Amino acid sequence: MPKSFLTSPVSSSEGVCPRCGQAGRSVSATTLKSLLRPETRLRLRSLAGFQFCATPKCEVAYFGPTARDSVLAAEVRVPIFQKGTAAERLVCYCFQHTVAEIQQEVRAAGTSRIATGIKTKCAQGLDDCEHTNPQGSCCLGNVRRVIREAGGTNPSPTSDTGGCGCH
Ligand SMILES: [Zn+2]
Repeated sequence: MPKSFLTSPVSSSEGVCPRCGQAGRSVSATTLKSLLRPETRLRLRSLAGFQFCATPKCEVAYFGPTARDSVLAAEVRVPIFQKGTAAERLVCYCFQHTVAEIQQEVRAAGTSRIATGIKTKCAQGLDDCEHTNPQGSCCLGNVRRVIREAGGTNPSPTSDTGGCGCH
């Protein structure tokens, strides 16, 4: 693991989580404004330049330009899909689908229509990922992962990279 850090350095604009050392994903101030607890918002001088840490066991949810700006998962208003293990947690925050719901569908039918349903609703512009999802972007990749891990087949594996186009 440390070797990959040496051979493929992360570019300076990407940044790594000060707690776990993994690369983050940029999130907008809109997402932070919507999902941080009020007292946490007040603590931060600016909501610009933050990144989301998706590492399951890392307690940091977001980290800013300086290590002092880190936001813990406990300071986010909703449980973060990537950091939890409970089957009852949400994976789709816009349309309120839980991991358990998808697992049940896969057990019963070998696949889940939830991913297709989400994609359809996103295409209609009904999603609001930037305000509802802690990662600030569409949940479809995570939904597909839950289906795969439950032993199901994804309805449209060829469009895996396409997602729904909403961010
Ligand atoms: Zn981390």
